[in-house]
Amino acid sequence: MNRIPIGIRLNLKFDMEFETVIGLEVHVHLKTKTKAFCGCSTEFGNEPNTQTCPVCLGLPGSLPVLNEKALEYAVKVALALDCSAQEFIKFDRKNYFYPDLPKNYQISQYDMPIGLNGFLEIDLDKERKKIRIKRVHLEEDAGKLIHKQDGAYSLVDYNRCGIALLEIVSEPNINSPQEAFEYLKNLKLIIQYLEVSDCDMEKGSLRCDANISLRPKGEKGLGVKTELKNMNSFKGVRLALEYEVKRQKDLLSNGKKIIQDTRLWDENKQLTFSMRTKEEAHDYRYFPDPDLAPFTLSKEFITRIKDDIPELPQQKIENYVKDGDLTRKEAGEIASDKNLSLIYEQCIDIYREPKKMYNWLTGPVLAYVNDRKKSIADLNLEPKELAKLIQYVSNGKLNNTAAKDALFSMLDEVKDIDTIIKEKGLTQVSNEGELEEFIERVLKENSQSVQDFLSGKENAIMFLVGQTMKLSKGKANPKKVKEIILRRLRDVS
Ligand SMILES: [Zn+2]
Repeated sequence: MNRIPIGIRLNLKFDMEFETVIGLEVHVHLKTKTKAFCGCSTEFGNEPNTQTCPVCLGLPGSLPVLNEKALEYAVKVALALDCSAQEFIKFDRKNYFYPDLPKNYQISQYDMPIGLNGFLEIDLDKERKKIRIKRVHLEEDAGKLIHKQDGAYSLVDYNRCGIALLEIVSEPNINSPQEAFEYLKNLKLIIQYLEVSDCDMEKGSLRCDANISLRPKGEKGLGVKTELKNMNSFKGVRLALEYEVKRQKDLLSNGKKIIQDTRLWDENKQLTFSMRTKEEAHDYRYFPDPDLAPFTLSKEFITRIKDDIPELPQQKIENYVKDGDLTRKEAGEIASDKNLSLIYEQCIDIYREPKKMYNWLTGPVLAYVNDRKKSIADLNLEPKELAKLIQYVSNGKLNNTAAKDALFSMLDEVKDIDTIIKEKGLTQVSNEGELEEFIERVLKENSQSVQDFLSGKENAIMFLVGQTMKLSKGKANPKKVKEIILRRLRDVS
């Protein structure tokens, strides 16, 4: 009998194709002034342990009271993600012992989350994909541990303890690190549009954990997963997932097993390492919180919140493509910031030239924002003034260079465009007589370039146009200048 010896069989390399399966858990701090169940301030960056009270410190006899704003924000996010909002609200205790949790349990929602079965769309290269969302629930954050480098001691800051936290759990139907990246980007954008969180990863107000496993292509069941933590940016999430796909693929291709564990991403070394193994899912002994009586949400409450949801980025993209001749990519750039999209919409209401508006907003306006290190929200930009400026370029009153100059001055000095043009004398010179005078001088002073052009070096014309622009202090109409120079030089030749 020709049997392969077992040693050789085990060393066989499986030349198998794998499918990546990723599920994401995103935690978002809700932007409420006070914590989820007490009146303590949520302000970031204050002295440690100055924003605490008996409730968030878990002292005996204290009682939690739900922050209505937190509930409202949570329902808003659930609805914006197309979840069915649950009318019956119940909170549970998730029990675990850890120094950052003085009560020894976290108030969370176990079997009846605020929202169920939603989805979010992402744009891939050739298609759009619906990523299903399993649940959205409201809970409270824990405190923050600060470990001394040499391990001598750890400090704890309870200021963060009890801040309203929303957990958004996707179904495992994300199939690549890039899809995960797009999902996070869109989720953050939706939450920013809703104005319920600042989503600042540096301050920890948006955090993400990922579950990842591989399975042979075509298989339905899930492979053994690992959980990734400690990723401080969306780029970090993508890198950690890419690393983990490769690590798992190498193991599986060599006939080895994946061990279910929780792994931390090391930003410096660009790798994941095992923090703890996890044989079974944790048993947190959830039970309903007896201090928070369950209650129902009225239909009116849900309708009121639903009506309060603004137009979301995906809808805006659709509209911009349909009404504005923008490509999906261009529309996406405008919709990637709520304030930018508001300026765009107000501008094209006044001057219906979407493409021009897109070019100006993503060109000079964003250049200004970057140059002055401002945010779009802090711009002193009057849509009607920007629309006017772009109209002036179209009708020849301003040339492009002068218009950009005018835009910067307009934003710096907070004046209207007509005042700026008058003060800086920026009106474009298109009058042939005036232009002739400039050109006369330029041709006389640059006879070498004139010779170059006449002997066939066509590029020399651009130099001459440039010199004329300079002489006119940027006010000449460059198109006209070029026309006149060409005419003059052709006459010569
Ligand atoms: Zn408190």
